[in-house]
Amino acid sequence: MLVIAIDGPAGAGKSTVGRALAERLGLQYLDTGAMYRAMTFAVQQRGIPEGDLAEVAAVAPDVVIELDPVTGTVLVDGVDATRQIRSREVTAAVSQIAANQAVRTELVGRQRAWVAERGGAVVEGRDIGSVVFPDAPLKLFITASPRIRAERRVAEIGGDVDEVEASIIERDRKDSTREASPLTELDDAVTVDTSGMSVDE
Ligand code: C5P
Repeated sequence: MLVIAIDGPAGAGKSTVGRALAERLGLQYLDTGAMYRAMTFAVQQRGIPEGDLAEVAAVAPDVVIELDPVTGTVLVDGVDATRQIRSREVTAAVSQIAANQAVRTELVGRQRAWVAERGGAVVEGRDIGSVVFPDAPLKLFITASPRIRAERRVAEIGGDVDEVEASIIERDRKDSTREASPLTELDDAVTVDTSGMSVDE
């Protein structure tokens, strides 16, 4: 089973590079961030406060998440939520849901099963090389300066670059300082700083 693990902070180009790599290698592509976003959306839909650890943990196993790796469509409990999982509300709350160990245990299990069923994949997230697939033969840490990441995001979806940069820095801080599977640069990962690079480079 061939697994390529891609980790790194928000907006560094993991998805762009990951999808291109998967296509060239004829592998499936799994965006695990979309799963944490889908879980956050489901929690909000149910009216559960994101900080209610026990209630969020109780509901996590019941949330049905379906990812279509070809179209990028994300179904949450059978309903298309592709657009909503990228909303400001979800983006602002996702780090809190992702810090819940019960949510992580549930989603890591699903991620391993998803990849096993397909015989391998390019898998993108924050803890792929450290927790989900620690034996992956290639681990990439894809990063870029916060300013450049903010500028790319603004070029894609608009907004104020200072505000976007501040929210990216805040999300990275939460994701790298949490107790449960924090984002870290591993010794056995190849670091790629995409700051001055084109997608092809
Ligand atoms: O990759 P993306 O920015 O869509 O991820 C959204 C959030 O999901 C991250 O900020 C992080 O809190 C969480 N996440 C995670 N572990 C992963 C993938 C994403 O904690 N493997």
